[in-house]
Amino acid sequence: MSKELRYKSTRDSSLSVRASEAILKGLSNEGGLFVPERVPSLPMPAAAFASLSYRECAYEIMRLFFDDFSEEELKHCIESAYDDKFDTAEIAPVREASGAWYLELFHGATIAFKDMALSILPHLMTTAARKHGVEDTIVILTATSGDTGKAALAGFADVEGTKIIVFYPKDGVSPVQKLQMVTQRGDNTFVIGVDGNFDDCQGAVKKMFNDGELKKRLSDGHFRFSSANSINIGRLVPQIVYYVYAYSRLIKNGVIKEGEEINFTVPTGNFGNILAGYYAKRMGLPVKMLICASNENRVLFDFFRSGTYDKNRKFILTSSPSMDILVSSNLERLIYHICDDNAEKTAELMKLLSTEGKYDISEGMREKLKDFAGYATSQRETGEMIDTLFKESGYIIDPHTAVAAHAYRQYRADSKDETPTVIVSTASPYKFASSVVRALEGKTDDKEDKALIDRLEELSKTKIPPAVDGLFSLPILHRKTTSPEGMVLAVEEILGL
Ligand SMILES: *Cc1c(COP(=O)(O)O)cnc(C)c1O
Repeated sequence: MSKELRYKSTRDSSLSVRASEAILKGLSNEGGLFVPERVPSLPMPAAAFASLSYRECAYEIMRLFFDDFSEEELKHCIESAYDDKFDTAEIAPVREASGAWYLELFHGATIAFKDMALSILPHLMTTAARKHGVEDTIVILTATSGDTGKAALAGFADVEGTKIIVFYPKDGVSPVQKLQMVTQRGDNTFVIGVDGNFDDCQGAVKKMFNDGELKKRLSDGHFRFSSANSINIGRLVPQIVYYVYAYSRLIKNGVIKEGEEINFTVPTGNFGNILAGYYAKRMGLPVKMLICASNENRVLFDFFRSGTYDKNRKFILTSSPSMDILVSSNLERLIYHICDDNAEKTAELMKLLSTEGKYDISEGMREKLKDFAGYATSQRETGEMIDTLFKESGYIIDPHTAVAAHAYRQYRADSKDETPTVIVSTASPYKFASSVVRALEGKTDDKEDKALIDRLEELSKTKIPPAVDGLFSLPILHRKTTSPEGMVLAVEEILGL
């Protein structure tokens, strides 16, 4: 038996908890993020995963990180998550189009990649709660830029012992994203529109998590907060799985041979997805470059080029709303690792981020970022990429995936690197039908969303996914809106505090 794996806080070196506790808490008390104290190695050569199913891959990876779950508990979580909620038994198929491999992470309940982690998180959380004899109701408090919200609602709806409250920027999500959320069923679900952007929502949620007085009143009412945002390690670890799985599928399809390296290009917002790729690389997966693709909110692009993270800039609404983010929360974990797991230094930089809105990293830290390449894709380039790929191959991608596809083309032109590359495909084009049809046909003729979705079905020759079909006839169940300042009050009202 190897030594147990403990999780440390990125901001307090004295803290150390087991996986189940980190999953229950979400965020550490002083605002830090939980990180594994060491990164386990792959339990077998990466190529050996080629003979495993998605669920089997998931078990082999997750058991290393969640080592205080029993085999039975973990397998139960995995089987409850990756079942026929997904519309393909492969769960995460890989397909080739025009010289790159697309890892399709949109075959789950809400047709976006957050399903990969949020379909398992509720099971991990309720299992962890049972382990710790927690009797309080778990209140999931989430800020969403669109996809997290619905995926979390779908995951937690009617899960016993939980309530879920989702805040979304009222004018910052796509019509389909919004409709998916406001039609959510389940007595324990609450969905609230905020007059502000995603960072306003996320900022207020973080504040509530750090509010000691509020926490006290919660516990008096037999509630406890937890987070379904990508800061929870119960979201991060399940995302490592599909990097390993993608590699093993390229082996299986004969694209690469054992030990050969591949690149991943990841459309990035909060930095959760690509961070999972970084952990996969550190586990020993043969990954050469992690290409971080930003949209016009190019704060990460600037960070990788200059070593300065600076959120003091205009927030831009784009056709890839789930990446419209100026504070990429999960970057804190990478910062922690590249300063040699130094919590004091990380806390200092994060303090600067909150007081000055910016920080610089040292030359030594920059050295450790050489496996990353940052690229940014403009609005125009995003639309052109969708159209170009369709003309070349007949394959239609969504705007988030297009940001990554374009970043990869730029990277390849700059670097002349011909390493086989997987583009992490994070949403179905059906979720962003209006942007996609406009990119393909230059116009939408002011068609309603439903008509655009039908048009997309004609163009792509793929069937409308069940998650979208029928959405337009569901009753609206959530109409509440608030200002960012009113978010605390909304929570107090819901919980009767
Ligand atoms: C959330 C999301 C992203 C960004 O992922 P991060 O883990 O926040 O970097 C990209 N594309 C889609 C469709 C998403 O929903």
